[in-house]
Amino acid sequence: MSKPKRIIIVGGVGGGATVAAQIRRQDHHSEILLFDRGSHIAFSNCGLPYYLGNITDRNELLTNTDDFSKKYHVSVQINTEVTFIDRTKKQIHYEKSRETYIQSYDKLILSPGATAVIPELKGLNMDNTFTLHTIPDMDAIHTFIEKEQPQRVAIVGAGFIGLEMVENFRAIGLDCTLINRSDHILKIVDHDFHTILTTHLYEKGVDLELNDGLAAFSNDGKTIHLQSGKTIQTDFTLLAVGIKPLTVLAETAGIQLGETGALAVNAYMQTNDPDIYALGDVVETADFLTETPRHIALAWPAHRQAFIIASHLQGDKLPYDGTMGSAILKLFDLTIGATGHTSKDLNTLEIPYQEAFLSGYSHAGYYPGSVPLHIKILFSKTTGQLYGAQVVGFKGADKRLAVLTTAIKGQLTVHDLAALELAYAPPYSQPKDPINIIGYKAVAKLTN
Ligand SMILES: Cc1cc2nc3c(=O)[nH]c(=O)nc-3n(C[C@H](O)[C@H](O)[C@H](O)COP(=O)(O)OP(=O)(O)OC[C@H]3O[C@@H](n4cnc5c(N)ncnc54)[C@H](O)[C@@H]3O)c2cc1C
Repeated sequence: MSKPKRIIIVGGVGGGATVAAQIRRQDHHSEILLFDRGSHIAFSNCGLPYYLGNITDRNELLTNTDDFSKKYHVSVQINTEVTFIDRTKKQIHYEKSRETYIQSYDKLILSPGATAVIPELKGLNMDNTFTLHTIPDMDAIHTFIEKEQPQRVAIVGAGFIGLEMVENFRAIGLDCTLINRSDHILKIVDHDFHTILTTHLYEKGVDLELNDGLAAFSNDGKTIHLQSGKTIQTDFTLLAVGIKPLTVLAETAGIQLGETGALAVNAYMQTNDPDIYALGDVVETADFLTETPRHIALAWPAHRQAFIIASHLQGDKLPYDGTMGSAILKLFDLTIGATGHTSKDLNTLEIPYQEAFLSGYSHAGYYPGSVPLHIKILFSKTTGQLYGAQVVGFKGADKRLAVLTTAIKGQLTVHDLAALELAYAPPYSQPKDPINIIGYKAVAKLTN
């Protein structure tokens, strides 16, 4: 057991609250102090879109701060911003109700996350233009909808948040226009899926403005001018054009950034100051397969990194073995998932690869409810080792993604996919599962 110490955590939620709880599970003696500049330290960011679509109860998203504090014996200060790190004195400065205070630490853990990007555009009116990153963001959109009873919304950005919000805005009857700078919807999957995704969006009544970027707003934010010269009328706009890691606090203290612009950490999540750890959306980590730097802002890495830090504080040298970027998303009736590298990633990294595509079915065609399922895999031309996988389908896509994710983690090859003995009964699969079939297809493409 390590010596008791004072551990300060900057930021709650995904990384911060998780690392606090994880440390307490392993260490009953150290003092843990958690500061968050917001008013909630434990909520599910991932659930925010579903509250706006009237699917989730607001309270279900939140954990009461006092309950958290008591349960894990953590001193929590909300509405408190950490403004400065004095590494020489091992102190942080923080502001609460306009007063500045100082607190010393033995170990400091940074989990400030990221912030939604708001492009500088002429005519932007923040009374009817929103981003979605926090509970206050969610409440602001909800209040606007309740008060203004809008009919139309423009969603800018066809990434995770943009697409989840399109679904949830349609669920409450809003007319949606999805605007995206390129025609590539959801970059975690390759362009091969374009027609499947756009067809589904059109079927669900979503207007698409692809290959066109925002140029400006006018008419109090209700007219959007696109770069093509086209205009769109809207009652309000959701900007979902990306996030930026909140690195300023660390940078000012001399903590080094990595190549992606997020904080650089070693395999134990230590920054260049061994007494300062960082995790979550603010860090870059090595890619699981290529060890190249990657900035992946997802919940799984934050939770795993929390465990790595808590273990390291106890003296366990358990390394974080890199991020694969496994991600999944529901878009109306479709499930879209991906893991590992896309073709764009592999081209950028100049890694030669081969690919296989399968348009199959979720389960035996004669059993009711069999629906299309599409899988793409990317693999080494010679050894057949898997580099990436993408799955899009109406049923059973999450199961296939889980298998492919495990296969990449286990460094399996396409030969292994063909040979996997996956359970079969007509309601679930076929004697040769789509994973087996794509494995056979891929083996046939290997060069000796
Ligand atoms: C709408 C939405 C949906 C998402 N859906 C999914 C999903 O389905 N699946 C998935 O894997 N991931 C999803 N994510 C991403 C996931 O939520 C994040 O990757 C995860 O929360 C990262 O945790 P974090 O601790 O780095 O950042 P956060 O959870 O954002 O926490 C950072 C906290 O730090 C606080 N803070 C910042 N600076 C300071 C400071 N100087 N002093 C004090 N406090 C500070 C902030 O107030 C904030 O509460 C979603 C994110 C959003 C916004």
